[in-house]
Amino acid sequence: MTRKLYYEDMYMREFEATVVKVDGSRVILDQTCFYPEGGGQVGDTGWIGEYRVVDTQLEGDEVVHYLEKPAPLKPGDRVKCRIDWDRRYRIMRLHSAAHIMEYFLHKVFGPLERVGSRVDERKDRSDYAYEGRLDPVKLKEVEELCNKFIAEGHEIRVETPPDRPGFRVWRCAGIEMPCGGMHVKNTREIGRIRLKRRNPGRGVERVETYLVD
Ligand SMILES: [Zn+2]
Repeated sequence: MTRKLYYEDMYMREFEATVVKVDGSRVILDQTCFYPEGGGQVGDTGWIGEYRVVDTQLEGDEVVHYLEKPAPLKPGDRVKCRIDWDRRYRIMRLHSAAHIMEYFLHKVFGPLERVGSRVDERKDRSDYAYEGRLDPVKLKEVEELCNKFIAEGHEIRVETPPDRPGFRVWRCAGIEMPCGGMHVKNTREIGRIRLKRRNPGRGVERVETYLVD
């Protein structure tokens, strides 16, 4: 089982680790702060030593780092590792923004069935999809409520309830959502956001959350 440093400190960018297993371009370390794809959030990229990590996935209890190409690493090697922090930090901002968006979306529109979620820095936005129709005027209202709330500088915490080991809940100013993803510590770090609505069809509407900067 990989020690998951990203849950001990979501702001960790660098660490040292011991190689546990190598299989082609797949590398498993004894510990890592590379976040593996999950909960709608893409996997981290970065470097193990000088070797480029292009994706990270969770397989069972092990975090698997996917290198760009096979590298001469072997079990027992000590390696210096670092994640692509600029990319990850944008993902953290986008992911926290998405939860705030969803909270105010429900406040303004009432209950909506979420049918998909994705936080992907390649598109530089988070996409949450819902069943039904979203009125653009009301969505503008959601955007204004989000930006006001974000600017107020609320603390964000990701906690594990004592009675539910392995489960994580995102908490901010009394709002709670189950989430195992990576988040900023204060809403102010998100900055301003912009919401866009798309209709990909099949009775589904997508809310795209963008960072304005
Ligand atoms: Zn989340």
